Amino acid sequence: MKALAFTEFGGPEKLQLQEVPEPKVGAQDVLVRVRACALNHLDLWVRQGIPALKAPLPFWTGSDGAGDVVEVGSDVEGVKPGDRVAVNPNISCRRCEFCLAGEDNLCPRYGLVGEHVPGGFAEYVAVRGDRVLPLPAEIGYEEAAAFVLTNMTAWRMVVTQARVKPGEDVLVIGVGGGVSSTAVQIAKLCGARVIVTSSSDEKLEKARALGSDIGINYAKEDWARAVRTVTGGRGVDVVVENVGAATWKQSIRSLRRGGRLVTCGATTGPIGETDIRVLFWNQLHLIGSTMSTTREFLDVMRLFFAGRLRPIVDEVVPLAEGAAAQQRLAEGRQFGKIVLRV
Ligand SMILES: [Zn+2]
Repeated sequence: MKALAFTEFGGPEKLQLQEVPEPKVGAQDVLVRVRACALNHLDLWVRQGIPALKAPLPFWTGSDGAGDVVEVGSDVEGVKPGDRVAVNPNISCRRCEFCLAGEDNLCPRYGLVGEHVPGGFAEYVAVRGDRVLPLPAEIGYEEAAAFVLTNMTAWRMVVTQARVKPGEDVLVIGVGGGVSSTAVQIAKLCGARVIVTSSSDEKLEKARALGSDIGINYAKEDWARAVRTVTGGRGVDVVVENVGAATWKQSIRSLRRGGRLVTCGATTGPIGETDIRVLFWNQLHLIGSTMSTTREFLDVMRLFFAGRLRPIVDEVVPLAEGAAAQQRLAEGRQFGKIVLRV
């Protein structure tokens, strides 16, 4: 089969559409003919080489896949060839204290399709049979691929971890990103007033179309000061972060007393300055979040299928153009998700 794979770690130039062996399908697995797979920053990290992760080469990423089931392992029930599905990328052991409590994303052996095993930037992907969710007829593969990972992540951040309540002020940092743009929709669904930042007026305008109430262009003004102004000096109840080093200090400064900062990423770097005096004196909550549990995945997919949350698609390009697409993502030129058609 063809895959957009790399045989050594490095930049997007290492990606080549090449022939690789088809994945083996175990008794508990299904084989999916991938039709669409969306890009995430994770694809860039894995391609560049994560020291702790020993991906066998050639390797291909892709955690946001949708397609057709073509083969079903002998132990799999409730799935049949021909089913149109989205892939839940969570991999966990199903035996540890966390898995047994439904907290599969806390599993010590937690991993992702496309990170710990080859992913969806290929014609076929093999996943455990309980990792595929049937798609309603009206939901397209590209929409599904664009939706899954960012919505799992943003849902857990906004709803489970930050517990956003009606009437609260939520600040979403860097609204062009996939998680950030979808966090706007989810925070609005929770009844919050949503403030967003971006260096692009065009992206602020797109965020407004998703329901954001206030846009701050950080290239034109001191955004932390602007946040203080629009909240009457109080600060926001919740900050949704994934930018990291470049914004961390000011994100903390933007919180009201007792406010919550939730983060799922550090795209500009992993080390940020935290003034511990501000943390304890203002009684702030710094909250980490990664992906979601399978329960949260099912909750957010139900809202997608019901039309209450929608995918935010920047562009759809063929798999063969994946290297250029990854470069575009690395430069932050997108709004929402870039999807590869397979
Ligand atoms: Zn486990």
